[in-house]
Amino acid sequence: MVDHLLGHSDDRAHHLRRAASFEEERLHRKQRLAATFRLFSRNGFDQGLAGHVTVRDPEFPDRFWINPLSKFSGQIKVSDLQLVDRAGNILIGDKPINQAGFVIHSAIHAAHPEVIAAAHTHSTYGKAWSALGRLLDPLTQDSCAFYEDHALFDPFSGVVLEAEESRKIAEALGSKKAVVLQNHGLLTVGPTIEATAWGTSR
Ligand SMILES: [Zn+2]
Repeated sequence: MVDHLLGHSDDRAHHLRRAASFEEERLHRKQRLAATFRLFSRNGFDQGLAGHVTVRDPEFPDRFWINPLSKFSGQIKVSDLQLVDRAGNILIGDKPINQAGFVIHSAIHAAHPEVIAAAHTHSTYGKAWSALGRLLDPLTQDSCAFYEDHALFDPFSGVVLEAEESRKIAEALGSKKAVVLQNHGLLTVGPTIEATAWGTSR
């Protein structure tokens, strides 16, 4: 039963990992989420309050872990991570969260149950590329990984605070691993936090 709920009956990457308990899997995911924030900070993927990464809770799939608003990404620890539900209630943690981050990630996690983690950045190159309004050509080994596996979301309408806008982003993503948000930035998803972070950093 635990195996099933942790996704081990699935044949995706997390099939490789077998946690003994929800607690062990939760800690595993949170440690990698905290490490991802630090890695993103080191690579300059965070920008002010923008940029957020989330991971689904293994025991309660309608909840996910997210960073607190305005905490410097380069110093985020496991104990800083906050647990929120789909309604935006903060179940664990006492800091506010980024509203745009919550709205986007909540829609992604709700629409795509197979997605364990999601990352959204306003990185310099990602944002510059997004301004072109086009998909990546399969010109390098890295970009080949996204061949026919990423989408473009082009109706830019400012900071994403509306549930409807987020629902459309989740729809544009479909079953792909990434979406280029035109004039905005990048968003990647995956069956593990590692795969999701890899996608954003290509
Ligand atoms: Zn954004």
